[in-house]
Amino acid sequence: MTGSILSVRDVGIKFGGIVALNGINFDMSPRTILGLIGPNGAGKTTLFNCLSRLYTPNCGDILFDGQSILDRPAHRIAEIGIGRTFQNLALFPSLSVLDNVRIGTHSRIWSDYLSDALYLPWTNRNEKFADQTAHEMIAYLGLRGAANSRVSDLPFGTQKRVELARALATNPKLLLLDEPACGLNHEEVDELGGIIRQIRDERGISILLVEHHMSLVMSISDKVVALNFGKKIGEGCPRDIQKHPDVIAAYLGAQAA
Ligand code: ATP
Repeated sequence: MTGSILSVRDVGIKFGGIVALNGINFDMSPRTILGLIGPNGAGKTTLFNCLSRLYTPNCGDILFDGQSILDRPAHRIAEIGIGRTFQNLALFPSLSVLDNVRIGTHSRIWSDYLSDALYLPWTNRNEKFADQTAHEMIAYLGLRGAANSRVSDLPFGTQKRVELARALATNPKLLLLDEPACGLNHEEVDELGGIIRQIRDERGISILLVEHHMSLVMSISDKVVALNFGKKIGEGCPRDIQKHPDVIAAYLGAQAA
């Protein structure tokens, strides 16, 4: 489909004898939220890891803005506009919120060791840019009061926001969120839903989330893709997915039981 921000084309991957993903296909429109669901072992994390380039599929292709990303290593996807967060957080706990978020700007800054050592004029410009961007994202996510706090001193829900701020500081067109609601209380999940929608609506960012929290996925997603045993079993708007017999049998039914 033309105009997709993300196209997953016949993606398959095996680990030894286990077929973790088998012929996965779907498209994601720009400025939308896509929820990836499925019961334990369905292949969600494996697909997420393919999208963030930690894994390379054995077959198929993944296109971002019409271009394959499979020739790009994981540490270079931020440069092309793919940001991500981690299920178990990947922050530097002993650094401040500000420093953690500043790190997100590095993919947008050109610098080299010699220029930094000699403190050449663009080093100063880079520093200013990093500071300004980090402060903007910190304010955007309501973290101003915590900007100078050590990350390890903050509650888990706040740390998750810091990770989101850092991902936003990379200026992504597509944001990949790995179980963003995991470990959050009810109120924090509600707030998170609002923030994710806000990021789509105000910043025009497309968001793909892997999530077990059904009410969050169903309330914010424009489209839901459901996996089971490495295959896509359903794709559509939340209302249709909630009524899909295979999805009910595989996942929602199991939740309700
Ligand atoms: P969960 O919701 O429990 O996190 P999931 O939908 O994310 O599950 P995956 O973690 O992607 O599922 O796992 C899909 C299948 O692939 C499982 O059978 C899993 O054991 C297998 N698998 C995933 N990663 C690896 C790996 N690195 N080596 C071997 N098998 C793996």
